[in-house]
Amino acid sequence: MKKLLFLFDTDEMPSVFDTVVGYDGGADHVTGYANVTPDNVGALIDGTIYTRGGKDKQNTAIFVGGGNMTKGEELYEKVKKSFFGPFRVSVMLDSNGSNTTAAAGVALLAKAKSLKGKKALVLAGTGPVGMRAAGFLGMEGADVTITSRTKDRAEAAAKVIEKRFGIKVSGVAGGTDEERAEAAKDANVIFAAGAIGVQLLPETAWKDNPNVELLADVNAQPPLGVEGIQATDKGAEYGDKIAFGALGLGGLKLKLHRACIAKMFESAEAVFDAEEIYALAKEMA
Ligand code: NAP
Repeated sequence: MKKLLFLFDTDEMPSVFDTVVGYDGGADHVTGYANVTPDNVGALIDGTIYTRGGKDKQNTAIFVGGGNMTKGEELYEKVKKSFFGPFRVSVMLDSNGSNTTAAAGVALLAKAKSLKGKKALVLAGTGPVGMRAAGFLGMEGADVTITSRTKDRAEAAAKVIEKRFGIKVSGVAGGTDEERAEAAKDANVIFAAGAIGVQLLPETAWKDNPNVELLADVNAQPPLGVEGIQATDKGAEYGDKIAFGALGLGGLKLKLHRACIAKMFESAEAVFDAEEIYALAKEMA
């Protein structure tokens, strides 16, 4: 029986990235749907749950993606709520690679050093990856602060993360190098989660800062989010500091994404959101 993966994408076009990783994770066929919303997804869900019975059901799985975390979460909830009794298939949420990228980054940091009680700063922590990274850092027991170019957005995102993960998060303004350097002054862990090709932290803000112990940056396109590290860094040492660049952590991100796809085809009941994906990342890191 063929393993079928259905991509429910909230964007205008289904993601090529998620399609490729779907195949690499073991799907025999990947079908992408665009502009999927909680209002129009009903028939798509019906097609996955009413077509195969018994053990055969585990050969059908759903991946919820797209660039918007909130829309992705709403769609993912709608999919799960539509399941009942045996009428269900495995489902994964990874809008913009949020769960897998953040999980890979934080799992590598946590493996390098315990994060418990550390002050963690997520730069540009309002995007999908940053909001998940903040959640995982909080789950590890870190005291988390996120920045945004506006304080309002930082505070609003902090509230959403607090509600989702049941942790305490502070939101501060980080619209300039000076503001971000100020926020980084007493940070032990810095996770740069900014948009592609945007530098967020000059080298002078961390290289000689005795508080900084760990750095991660998910932006692979120069200029990097953190000046002075390399995209390929995977536990690279800069004096007493340990750094992970976007390509350095990207290997684990991809392996993790593929592993989640493969695991979805092992039962009809798997759910892969933040907690499940982070647990797997910690096993694989
Ligand atoms: P995003 O939503 O595009 O951006 C994250 C935040 O960056 C935004 O919420 C915004 O915050 C801030 N930002 C945008 N433009 C900015 C600018 N010009 N100056 C300063 N801040 C700016 O990003 P995402 O989807 O969460 O992804 C985060 C990063 O992860 C991206 O660089 C992406 O390429 C990377 N990524 C890496 C991997 C990997 O395997 N390494 C996988 C997936 C994604 P405010 O508007 O609140 O300031």
